[in-house]
Parts: sequence; structure tokens; C-alpha cells
Amino acid sequence: PELERSAPVRHRPALSYELFPARSDVSFERLRETIGHLEATAPDHVSVTSRAGHGNLARVLELTEHVLAETSLRPLVHLTSIGSTRDQLTTIVHALLDRGVRGLLALRGDVPEGHRLEDDEIPFARPLVELIREIERERTAGLAGGRVSIGVAAYPHRHPESPTTSHDTEVLVAKERAGADFAISQVFFDPEVYCGLLERSRRAGIRMPIVPGLVPATNPRRLERLAAMSGVEPPRELLHRLETAADDAERRRIGVRSTVDLARRVLDAGAPGLHLFTFNSHAEALDVLDHLDLDRWSAPSQGEPR
Ligand code: FAD
Repeated sequence: PELERSAPVRHRPALSYELFPARSDVSFERLRETIGHLEATAPDHVSVTSRAGHGNLARVLELTEHVLAETSLRPLVHLTSIGSTRDQLTTIVHALLDRGVRGLLALRGDVPEGHRLEDDEIPFARPLVELIREIERERTAGLAGGRVSIGVAAYPHRHPESPTTSHDTEVLVAKERAGADFAISQVFFDPEVYCGLLERSRRAGIRMPIVPGLVPATNPRRLERLAAMSGVEPPRELLHRLETAADDAERRRIGVRSTVDLARRVLDAGAPGLHLFTFNSHAEALDVLDHLDLDRWSAPSQGEPR
């Protein structure tokens, strides 16, 4: 009998959520529920943040093991180089690979004020990417389950310590050459700023996907916290509207609408997916997805006409 022609496979844009490890057993229980809700949207991975110096490593492993053992999701574990020695990082990478982790986000981390770099400390993300690839090469025989996928950070706005955006571009080129497979962007609120990053990267020959990092902008305190951490200020007008909203329901409507609008504009401009900074809260992230209809940006598989 004639085989039925199968419909072309269409690929939805990549989707991922950022979570931070619990600080207590109670918050871990809440986090498990949050993950359950997010799992229903079939993300490509959930990322697990970590503190510079890995002071919360036990909690990072707890969350990572939960994701691996009790969900269908793949963890992308953030690894920060600052405040740890090369040997400590090597041990952590082995521990993660032993547990079955195959996705790592290689970061430097924020340098604490007055921090003095030790001789055996890795000062930037690029050499951390190299270290992970080195460990991977050594372990190839024992790495059932495939190659390690390495992500790095990219900056739509200039990194606060960088002299220029072109320096940022050079750093991103170096991270790709060292073996990074993809980048996730720092937060931004203006689609043009993200498009600028894509354009600079393309001109510099960067081929890896640069996934935009978006925060569901429903909570003004959260935006201020993020601004303090990243140096990226939310638009004053948005902040004002959130602060003067009549109640939480209105705040949520304003924030979700603004985030959906930003997501649509970057996807229209060619963003390969979305990475949502959830602050461990699923409701706003799910609201954004509900209003977005990601399938609209599905790309046909290679060889199929768009
Ligand atoms: P790098 O790429 O090493 O760059 C750091 C600075 O050094 C930049 O100014 C760069 O221009 C400069 N630089 C790099 N290489 C050189 C060189 N060879 N010579 C001179 N200058 C150089 N932080 C955490 O602590 N935990 C997290 O879990 C975490 N998750 C994050 C997730 C995302 C998606 C993003 C975007 C950031 C995250 N951060 C996290 C914050 C991040 O650690 C900081 O932004 C940090 O300041 C820089 O990290 P990086 O990996 O980009 O560093």
C-alpha cells in the first residue's frame, strides 16, 4: 500500500524558563508545584541559577535532581566561575555530568565588591567554556546520553563593566569559538535593543542562536530588583503604570500585555525562542504564553518551504 505522506514537521521556537534553587524546604515544595505547571507547556529546558561561589550548591543539586528524576524536563544548570577554584569547578562539572545533566550555562558571575582574584580562579566565562569542553573530551567514553550543550550570556545593553558594545561582541565571538552552542540574553525592554545585538553578532560572524531573556513585567519590585542586579532599567512609563494600577489583577494585565508585545516583536524580528525569567512563579509566565500562541512562529523543518 502507498505510504501516507506525512505532514511536514514544524518546529516551535525554543522555550525555556529560569528558576532559582529553593532557600528552604517549604519553598522547595512550592517550587515543585511551579515546575509541574510549567512542565505542561513542554519547554526545551528549565534553567537552574546558581550563586557566585556556589554557596548554595546543595540546593542547586536538589532542584537539578528533582527535574531529572521526577519530570520530563531537561535542566540547564548555571555554572559561575568567580569565587571558585578551577579544581572546585571541575568537581562540580563532574558531579553534574554524573547525574545526567547535559546542559550548562557557563557564566562568570558578578564579582563581589573588593573581591581579589585568586591565582587558580577562572576570571571570565570563556575559559570556563573551555574547561567544560576539556572535561567533556576526557570523559567522552563515559558520557552516555550525548554531548554537553553549553550556553553563555549575551548583552543587548552594554555589560556594565564593558568599555563598548563592540567589546561585548568580541567577548561573545570568543565564547562561541571556545565551544558555546547558544546564548541567552540579559533582560531588555526595547525590541530594537535586542535587534541591535542580533545585528552586531551577525556582522561579527556569530552563528549560534541568541535567545532573548524576558521577564514577565507584572511586578514593579521585581523589575527594580532585576535592574539592581543587571543594570538594565525598566521603562519609567511601564513602571509608573504598574505602580499606579488599581489592583494586582490590573497590574498583571498591564505587565502581561507589555511582555507579550515585546515577545511578539522579537519573534517577528527572528528571535530563535524565548527564555522567561520566572522568579519561581508560574502564573505570569503561563499568562504570557497563553496570549502569545508560539506556534505562529513555528518554522518548517529543513527542506520544507516556509
Ligand atoms: P564574561 O563573558 O566573562 O564577561 C564579564 C565581563 O568581562 C564583561 O564586561 C566582558 O566584556 C569582560 N571580559 C570578558 N572577557 C574578557 C577578556 N578576555 N578581557 C577583558 N575583559 C573581558 N549570575 C549569577 O551569579 N548566577 C546566575 O545563575 C546567573 N545567571 C545568568 C543568566 C543569564 C541569562 C544572564 C544574561 C546573566 C546571568 N548571571 C548570573 C549574571 C552574570 O553572571 C553577570 O552578568 C556577570 O557580570 C557576567 O557574566 P558573563 O558570563 O557574561 O561574563
